[in-house]
Amino acid sequence: MYKEDVRAGQESADDGTDDIVDRANNAYNRELMFSLSDTERKTLLQIEDALRRMDQGTYGKCANCGNPINPLRLEAVPWTRFCIECQELAERGMLELEP
Ligand SMILES: [Zn+2]
Repeated sequence: MYKEDVRAGQESADDGTDDIVDRANNAYNRELMFSLSDTERKTLLQIEDALRRMDQGTYGKCANCGNPINPLRLEAVPWTRFCIECQELAERGMLELEP
């Protein structure tokens, strides 16, 4: 019962937006970064990178081969840097990534 109360309190505190992208946009600060898990922090960095690429006008292009990334893929993973082919290479460690 006590746990449920705490959980309800937390949910109302963050407006119920548990989506990582919303959290990045709504509460874009260091405090948030510290409250994130490693996976979430990594995702947030990828989102920052994507926003930077939007500024540079390179968003939606594969960082490796330069081909346009499939819009459906962008919809599913908006912060992705790679087209599906290059993503597979990257996951197999076959892609030279910039630091
Ligand atoms: Zn590619």
